[in-house]
Amino acid sequence: MSNDRFETKLTLASRRPVKSHGYVNPKLVRGSTVLYPSCADRREIGKRRLEQEEIYGLYGTETHFALEAMITQIEGGSHCQIVSSGLAAITVPMLAFLKSHDHILMPDSVYGPTRRFCDSVLHRYGVTVTYYDPMLSEPDLRALMRSNTKVVFSESPGSHTFEVQDVPMLARVAHEHGAKLFMDNTWGIHTFQPFNHGVDVSIQALTKYIGGHSDIILGAVTVASESDWAWLRAGALDLGQYASPDDCWLALRGARTLKVRLDQQANSALRIAKWLADRAEVQRVLHPALPSCPGHAFWKRDFSGACGLFGIVFEPRFDYEAVCAMVDSLRLFGIGASWGGYESLALPTSFTITRSQGTGVFGGEMLRLQIGLEHVDDLINDLDAGLTVLRGQQRTACASPPCLADEMQHIGEANGPQ
Ligand SMILES: *Cc1c(COP(=O)(O)O)cnc(C)c1O
Repeated sequence: MSNDRFETKLTLASRRPVKSHGYVNPKLVRGSTVLYPSCADRREIGKRRLEQEEIYGLYGTETHFALEAMITQIEGGSHCQIVSSGLAAITVPMLAFLKSHDHILMPDSVYGPTRRFCDSVLHRYGVTVTYYDPMLSEPDLRALMRSNTKVVFSESPGSHTFEVQDVPMLARVAHEHGAKLFMDNTWGIHTFQPFNHGVDVSIQALTKYIGGHSDIILGAVTVASESDWAWLRAGALDLGQYASPDDCWLALRGARTLKVRLDQQANSALRIAKWLADRAEVQRVLHPALPSCPGHAFWKRDFSGACGLFGIVFEPRFDYEAVCAMVDSLRLFGIGASWGGYESLALPTSFTITRSQGTGVFGGEMLRLQIGLEHVDDLINDLDAGLTVLRGQQRTACASPPCLADEMQHIGEANGPQ
């Protein structure tokens, strides 16, 4: 199986059976109580709660284990734990690995709800958080490490601003100091193999491309080492983490078509990104596969492709209201949080990003685009008409940086789902 290409793995993984006799797909099992032949059996089997075995509903069913095996195929590593949401895939390993008086390093470009969890729950429980510039150098990272630094966190590319990080460098410095490298690898599903680059704990919001149809909320945490697995599994069970088997079953179904969806969405997104880069209204395109994106060289070195999510920065003469007028006028792009579904979305991001280290300011209003499965030419036509609306909104006075500075003060005002 190990020499099979990715598409083949997706069709073979978690099947029952692979060739003959029985239905192709794993069963959808709902359950709480599991029955045992005797009291002695119950005591014996109950000792194995950290194993992926049908012991009690909370510990997982055949459906959960099938999805866990599938995600392990996609991410690499050795074990996976399914949790209730992408955000839980971040909070569960943090709570499982950290204790009070520990210190963690978080990229300034981290997903907003991750930052909120750090500043609320972790702060209350006595864990100190330092936010770092996602593009920092190796000596600068070394200078931030403390004797109690237990986790270096990476999200690459960064939320909304798409900085691609030097993950092998983060791993090297973290490991030198006895810390773990956690990575939110949602953007890099299939195109970044976290365990080949030194990541210890890889996080996926299955809500995005694995689900693929904007109809589930689900997360996965994958690890490579047995001792990390013991911490993670015990932490998830102790926290009462559970996901609906119905959602797991939908995620398994979504995973079968991951490659074809991702390929088409990534191809369309790159074409649209290049088209936007040539428009006079656009100052900069934040797509990791283009040299205009911070950390593009790391993307080129470490990733095998991209996905359908990227950002653009408009010229400073267009303000937030102008961008909203453009987005409101689009016919094919919905206005909403999340991404990875089959449909396109557009989200003005200036009001949803929070930065404490002054990173991610590109000098213009920003828009995040999630490219769906619509025909790429229809999407380009829609954006072209939107840019005409945008041009009609161009401000006439005060087109220079002071105005922009006023607007940037609003950054961080709202920090809802993204
Ligand atoms: C969406 C997202 C999450 C959270 O996923 P939910 O299932 O919505 O909780 C986490 N990280 C990243 C990078 C995301 O885009």
